Amino acid sequence: MDILLHICCAACAIGPCEQLTGQGHDVTGCFTNPNIHPFIEFRRRKKALKVWQERVPIAVVYEEEYGLKAYLDSVRWSGADAAVRCGDCYRLRLERTAREAGRLGFAAFSTTLLASEEQDHALVKRVGEEVAGRAGVEFFYADWRAMAPENHRRAKEMGLYLQNYCGCVFSEWERFRNTTRHAYRGSGPAPCGSAPPCGSAPRWRCCWPWPVRRPSCCPAAAMPDGRPQWPSRRRPTP
Ligand code: SF4
Repeated sequence: MDILLHICCAACAIGPCEQLTGQGHDVTGCFTNPNIHPFIEFRRRKKALKVWQERVPIAVVYEEEYGLKAYLDSVRWSGADAAVRCGDCYRLRLERTAREAGRLGFAAFSTTLLASEEQDHALVKRVGEEVAGRAGVEFFYADWRAMAPENHRRAKEMGLYLQNYCGCVFSEWERFRNTTRHAYRGSGPAPCGSAPPCGSAPRWRCCWPWPVRRPSCCPAAAMPDGRPQWPSRRRPTP
């Protein structure tokens, strides 16, 4: 059977693609994920799939456009609980996949969301069947959740990017709100005139904000001839 497989991320696609092709199906991937935010994260996950494609001979139809507005227009996020929002999100992605499957003449469509232990499996199945009825294309259902640990192990082995939240800004907040995780640890400017706590730290840091020349506040930052010490990659010509 010709199947258009919606791919949420490279890792989740590994097992399902192998199993489907092993069963004799002809599989084409479909990357349509307007739920992934912010933009750089969207690029990362798309790129990871392209990297995986270099190892696995599978064709993939990409929706290259960043879909933030389409996502926000389609999901009920204000005042709605996560189940409502996620149902709308599944519908948005699976409707696009089903439409594409119909347009390209596939016999069925499916989704790698069925391989995730993090998703609401029963809801994905229900939305898939509902969308299939409207699009007139069969929804291929399988429970691939048992593959999840092995998919992740192999993705790591291949050096593929592995995300740590589902995709939307809401899920990023839900994932990290109870943690103390920060991308930027920060270090404030040294108060002028005070002894900088540089010790063995990189010399130029204690004279931040760079490139303000403040060698006097940091003896370690001065060159022997009195010129300030600069970060090596951007050292100005004397
Ligand atoms: S948590 Fe995941 S499935 Fe739910 S709305 Fe966000 S991206 Fe979609």
